[in-house]
Amino acid sequence: MAASRLYLDWNATAPLHPAARDAMLRALDLFGNPNSVHGEGRATRAAIEAARRQVAIIAGAEPSHVVFTSGATEAANMVLTPEFRMGRTPLAIGHLYVSAIEHPALREGGRFPKDRVSEIPVTFDGVVDLAALEALLAGHDKATGLPMVAIMLANNETGIIQPARAAADIVQAHGGIFVVDAVQAAGRVPVDINGIGADFLIVSSHKIGGPKGAGALVSRGEVLMPKPLIHGGGQEKGHRSGTENSLALIGFGAAAAAAVAEFETRNVAIGALRDRLESGMRLAAPDVIIHGAEQSRVPNTCFFTLPGLKAETGQIAFDLEGVALSAGSACSAGKLGESHVLVAMGRDPQLGALRISLGFATTDEEIDRAISVFAKIAGRRKPAGVAA
Ligand code: PLP
Repeated sequence: MAASRLYLDWNATAPLHPAARDAMLRALDLFGNPNSVHGEGRATRAAIEAARRQVAIIAGAEPSHVVFTSGATEAANMVLTPEFRMGRTPLAIGHLYVSAIEHPALREGGRFPKDRVSEIPVTFDGVVDLAALEALLAGHDKATGLPMVAIMLANNETGIIQPARAAADIVQAHGGIFVVDAVQAAGRVPVDINGIGADFLIVSSHKIGGPKGAGALVSRGEVLMPKPLIHGGGQEKGHRSGTENSLALIGFGAAAAAAVAEFETRNVAIGALRDRLESGMRLAAPDVIIHGAEQSRVPNTCFFTLPGLKAETGQIAFDLEGVALSAGSACSAGKLGESHVLVAMGRDPQLGALRISLGFATTDEEIDRAISVFAKIAGRRKPAGVAA
């Protein structure tokens, strides 16, 4: 009998958390339009507002500062715009500075014209170069409008935690607006919008065990807000029109609540599994390069290169052994090839890198199996210098 599949690609997406599944099953019959004033509508509204409170906690924010969207990509496109309002007064943003290791959802620059987007480099260690950020903002022409800076809290490929608090101080000193992509950090490290000093945080449901197609733009206050991306009936206080995807939002809320409740146990266990995995990998293939191992990382991610193994070949080899992992950033629609993150870190773009990412359901036995599949694939590599 074929061995069962082993899912180790949690940074691409997580399976539905049992709590999210239960909440969604219970909510299937909540058919009322949440914007209707009758009892049926109010029942759905109450469930959405409960979800909003649950999502607010995972971001350390006020529930009234959570705007639900169809995911992190939509939240990014909503907030990365030159057109803001401070209350009723329009506020212009002149230029967007976005880190070179951002997910394409932010790196594309949202609604900014391309010539008003600049990249903030990262260091060889994979962290945003704060001196470069300072220099970029010092050169910003305020006559065009305020600067906006977008940085992720944890990188989706390496798992490396970014110096968001220190970046916030720099952005504030230059009177800029600071956007933090907390998609891969939420539920894995403490996330607190005020502690970070972010004006906006972006979170996604399906990375924490909620359903796909739900996310949120979380703001620090209510006064400074971007021009809406989607216009219409004025839902989400006018920030995001369209009848809410109540089922997905309820699942998102339940997954967020579970991530908060299980935070300690989940992350301690996952961190121990990841460390054991990496020790096993090093033992099986002493030449393995684990990117960012010396940096502070989220506990679930291992991004590695096996010299002599191309990323695509490696991914297929693991898949044939029943192991799902990804080559580079899997969440950008199946694009294989070089990792823009490794390139930004100044590493050899030819280095194939694979990502193993764990989650709340990963077990000890799965790590044993991952190590033995890794050892098998590492052992099959051609010794350096041998022609193919
Ligand atoms: N930001 C990061 C860091 C991600 O890993 C992802 C993953 O896809 C996104 C943004 C986009 O999230 P979503 O799939 O909710 O649009």
